[in-house]
Amino acid sequence: MAINPGRREFLTSIAAVSLFPLEEEKPEFILHNGNIITVNPREPRAQAIAISRGRIVAVGSDVDVLHLAATGSTKIDLGGKTVLPGFIDAHTHPALAGVMHLRMVDCDLRSISAIQAALRDRAAKTPAGQWVLGFKYDDTKTTDGRPLSISDLDAAVPDHPVQIEHRGGHTVYCNSLAFQKAGISEKTPDPAGGKIDHDPATGKLSGRVAESARAILDKAIPQSLTRADHREGVKLISKMLAKTGITSAHEAQGTPTDLMAYQDAHEAGELLYRTYCFINYRHIDSMIAAGVRTGLGDEWVRVGAMKLVCDGSISERTARLSTPYEGRPNDFGILVMTEEELHTYGRKAHLAGWQIGTHSNGDVGIDTTLRVYERLQRENPRQDPRFRLEHCTVINDDLVRRIKALGAIPTPFSTYVYYHGEKMKYYGAERLNNMFALRSFLDAGIRATQASDYPPGEFIPMMALQSEVTRTDTKGNVWGPKQKITVEEAIRVGTINGAYASYEENLKGSLEAGKVADLVVLGRDPLQEDPSTLISIPVERSMAGGRWTFEA
Ligand SMILES: [Zn+2]
Repeated sequence: MAINPGRREFLTSIAAVSLFPLEEEKPEFILHNGNIITVNPREPRAQAIAISRGRIVAVGSDVDVLHLAATGSTKIDLGGKTVLPGFIDAHTHPALAGVMHLRMVDCDLRSISAIQAALRDRAAKTPAGQWVLGFKYDDTKTTDGRPLSISDLDAAVPDHPVQIEHRGGHTVYCNSLAFQKAGISEKTPDPAGGKIDHDPATGKLSGRVAESARAILDKAIPQSLTRADHREGVKLISKMLAKTGITSAHEAQGTPTDLMAYQDAHEAGELLYRTYCFINYRHIDSMIAAGVRTGLGDEWVRVGAMKLVCDGSISERTARLSTPYEGRPNDFGILVMTEEELHTYGRKAHLAGWQIGTHSNGDVGIDTTLRVYERLQRENPRQDPRFRLEHCTVINDDLVRRIKALGAIPTPFSTYVYYHGEKMKYYGAERLNNMFALRSFLDAGIRATQASDYPPGEFIPMMALQSEVTRTDTKGNVWGPKQKITVEEAIRVGTINGAYASYEENLKGSLEAGKVADLVVLGRDPLQEDPSTLISIPVERSMAGGRWTFEA
């Protein structure tokens, strides 16, 4: 059947419009005297870039580009600083994180007592009976050596229902009043694909609720966020991303509300990164009915893939594995949706011309998702569907071969080895050589991307580079050294590969004439840096669409 002709024509027409008047285009400004790493193989290095109306009109030597200056062109001397294309975070949750930062207690703290104090503080400002919500709690980062319990939360906040989300986003921790409000008791059975934890000694609720069981709580929590709150969230996270050199982000679990928030923020001039907004499968019917599909929008706010979820999370150790977690012989993780469900939703989206991105972490999850994609292509072949494997963490040779054969795109966690090093022991040194497997993907010719999954992972691109290149955590432990890549490769992964994952490789991801002016100015050259200090390279300025979005 015909394959997304709309998107292809659309992208070609953008290029045609911008390239046509190139000759007469007078640059608004020219960045010169720079060390420009273009990620364009035809011209890998340059000194100067000319920009007009948000687009690059020329890239080259100082002599060639400065000579294009007209009256009114501003010349900016980069003083020899390094310039890269703006980074593309191909799997993250910025719109969601933005409203969380606005409204919830940030529980990224290092002890249970510090978390209790923060919750108590918020409760004091919240009318009794109303929910106190937290996020970014991480059980492996508190010094207590044990997870939060229901009694910790009851002791801190007895008169408000409390729900704290783990930073992985797949599990929550609640107090007694929260369970009461949600109608959950010790006798409530686990729903399919979910788990309500009990204390193994007493059989009482432990406070932790995993995966699809969270829906029971979700129903009890009033949705009080306004349209303005969502726009405010995008504005807030925009500034956080711009500071780190990110100029595009794929919103990996978007909803129609997020899409509206992005449009609102963009119209208000507050959106500082380009979004490729995935749509959760629960909304796919209404989107298809409205004639919407992947690619609709403009270069700032575009509809992305349909999102499906196959299995659990890496940071919370619920990813579905073929061999059990280290030290937990009966724990293989969780499958969230059945293969039939994935196929049913996948088929609808595939036939309607949507790209599909399926959260698949463990090797069993990836195998299941690949089987669904292979079946979709067998039943209704589409040219260039660019199926995505969100995370695609634990791999083996057979999975890599099938990913390559399908032309699928993995979006492995970029900062996990560095930032979540203390969790790696649950997977074991041997398995780590097949996790976040950029070396295997690149060697097979697979276009893997940079992806933070924020809030679960940190989004700083320089941390991603260091993590991918050194495979070393903050304590100096090396995890999975076989998967090391070079700095040059990591830059490509973080730029042009991210553009390819959203069908926008002709629009961005490298610095060349005709593409959008999205770039980052760094304090030092990552190619000259000791890999163990890449994270300390300062971001001096970020630009998106020819506008400075951050200046140090
Ligand atoms: Zn995610």
